[in-house]
Amino acid sequence: MTVREEEITAGLAAVRERIAAACAAAGRRPAEVTLIVVTKTYPATDVQVLAHLGVTDVGENRDQEAAPKAADVAALGAQVRWHFVGQLQRNKCRSVVEYADVVHSVDGVKLARALSGAAERHRERPLDVLVQVSIDGDPARGGAVVGSTVEPDRDFDRVALTVAEAGPLRLAGVMAVAPLGWSAEAAFEKLADVAARLRAAYPEATAVSAGMSADLEPAIAHGATHVRIGSAVLGTRPKLR
Ligand SMILES: *Cc1c(COP(=O)(O)O)cnc(C)c1O
Repeated sequence: MTVREEEITAGLAAVRERIAAACAAAGRRPAEVTLIVVTKTYPATDVQVLAHLGVTDVGENRDQEAAPKAADVAALGAQVRWHFVGQLQRNKCRSVVEYADVVHSVDGVKLARALSGAAERHRERPLDVLVQVSIDGDPARGGAVVGSTVEPDRDFDRVALTVAEAGPLRLAGVMAVAPLGWSAEAAFEKLADVAARLRAAYPEATAVSAGMSADLEPAIAHGATHVRIGSAVLGTRPKLR
């Protein structure tokens, strides 16, 4: 094994143990929680190592980085499901629908329509979509706002309806990031409420994408079905800006 393979093996084992312990504490089965390893800033060869270690799902947050990486990983012969988890601009939809299996970060009606149009033209299978929820309701940051009357484009119910009614998209659930200044417990409890309300209207929308390296335990305690883990598996990223 190379040094890098050893590092990734150890990081992955530690995270899998944390997930198993959090599931045990919550009385949930580990099979209910999908680990998405967020590979942003790390090379395609790391994704190849992850795939060899049994990782099936990887995440990226910038199209400029993800599109070439997905092509490189395919060229290396590794097969993974790509989750787009970052802020998505409408002009990137066309690129993202070509490699992503799931988009976690749809938070506007116009964005949902753009993604649907791109998926219609540039992919064969429906695209799984999670509606990103703004936990603190601050429209300056990402996420659809529950009960927003101020900004209809960002109203959670409207975004969910737009996705649900778009043939090329499949409404799969919700995603959130715990906002700064909030306890992860309070944030994920609120997300669980939004997820339950969504499921009541759309029973197939069962995914709850919550929890990163620092807060996967409270996320699992509050029903996360997908955790998005970067640094705890791959190491601390260099500061981007
Ligand atoms: C980078 C990123 C993650 C992973 O963060 P870590 O703290 O490294 O685990 C999860 N979700 C999103 C949206 C991200 O951008």
